[in-house]
Amino acid sequence: MAPIGLFGGTFDPIHFGHLRLATELAEGFGLEKVVFLPAGLPYHRGRDSHATNEQRLTMVKLATQRDSRFDVDDRELKRDGPTYTYDTLWEYRQERGADQPIVFLIGSDAFAQINTWHKWQSLFGLAHFAVAIRADDAAWQSKGPGAFPPEVGPRVTLNRRELLASPAGKVMTFSMTPLAISSTAIKNLAHDGASIRYLTPDPVAEYIRSHKLYTPAS
Ligand code: ATP
Repeated sequence: MAPIGLFGGTFDPIHFGHLRLATELAEGFGLEKVVFLPAGLPYHRGRDSHATNEQRLTMVKLATQRDSRFDVDDRELKRDGPTYTYDTLWEYRQERGADQPIVFLIGSDAFAQINTWHKWQSLFGLAHFAVAIRADDAAWQSKGPGAFPPEVGPRVTLNRRELLASPAGKVMTFSMTPLAISSTAIKNLAHDGASIRYLTPDPVAEYIRSHKLYTPAS
């Protein structure tokens, strides 16, 4: 059964770092689909978004619509109250059955904080984690896998086949093309009236410009 990839994030805004991560992990793991899941209230990160849920969703759709491997799922935006990755993975597991490998895509900086997520140890009963080494991740550069919570150590595998042989529970790191692009830097550029072209797909850059997102008045 072909594995499916789930990619959660704030995507405020989505950029080429996200899209390359999804593309390279999809190819590396033979993922049938990568589903982008914009987070509603990212409780594990605090609420620092300047774009609305609807605007973030629109930008994710604009960025992914021309790639048939990408889907967008807005279930976390529709949920009342706090939204947790645990609930989303649990729902996917119910929908997909016990056997399909589910691979949650994540950057190394976010994975280093996984032990702050709701029911974090139970996440591994629901999905694998494919961890892309992020170009601007200073903790990884100094500590390598030591940047991750020690409990995940026994779950780490270097073997993609081993990971895909089971539905959930493994962690594998992946060296993607280093792209030191961040949503924060894009927000700062937009705030200063500087160009954000070539950091995010043109339709997203145009949407940000025309809706005056991240500008002082917005
Ligand atoms: P910021 O850029 O402000 O740090 P972010 O882009 O990390 O925000 P999210 O949108 O939540 O915030 O990121 C979604 C996922 O994409 C996270 O797992 C993050 O680690 C990963 N990610 C984001 N940018 C990159 C990048 N340039 N390279 C690799 N992974 C990335």
